[in-house]
Amino acid sequence: MVMKLMVLIFVFGIIFSAATGYRWKKNPVTFSVQNYTSTLSSNQIRDGVTQAFNIWSRVIPLDFKECCGSNADILLSFKPLDGTLVGWTNYKWNGDGAFYHADTYFNNRNSWGLKDPRKTDIIAVAVHEIGHALGLTGHSGDSNSVMNSWIKWTDGNGNYRYPQLSSSDISNIQNLYGRR
Ligand SMILES: [Zn+2]
Repeated sequence: MVMKLMVLIFVFGIIFSAATGYRWKKNPVTFSVQNYTSTLSSNQIRDGVTQAFNIWSRVIPLDFKECCGSNADILLSFKPLDGTLVGWTNYKWNGDGAFYHADTYFNNRNSWGLKDPRKTDIIAVAVHEIGHALGLTGHSGDSNSVMNSWIKWTDGNGNYRYPQLSSSDISNIQNLYGRR
């Protein structure tokens, strides 16, 4: 039941965001990591998440500030998620379409790493989930997009590949927020 409700919220997010450009209308947007997972230190997780926010903030005029504990705008945490999901994000908005809260979850059934090709990469998954938390709702068919449903952090040789926004990612997020 909880899962169905979350799916429903996500579907409404897709409809409204596509129609009206629902997004954050405040600056800076605050974030906080609420709990951790055993395979990384808390500093490594905060470092990976901060790098993921920076990847987006380089191309849009939106700043992200780590603060405020459980009162932050975007709360990130680890919990068990179903099936093959590595992450999950939902968000809430008010009558003006301004986002006022988002929750991002990382699946703590995975073994998480920081720039380790053999583990689930916190930066790559956080970039994808933060994209949702900023209002990019659906998944991209562009295989180079960080919003592709298949999140990649290795190259063809199995080496770690740092996440990079595709040209479609940049134009999609700038359609919501403008350019930095
Ligand atoms: Zn997604």
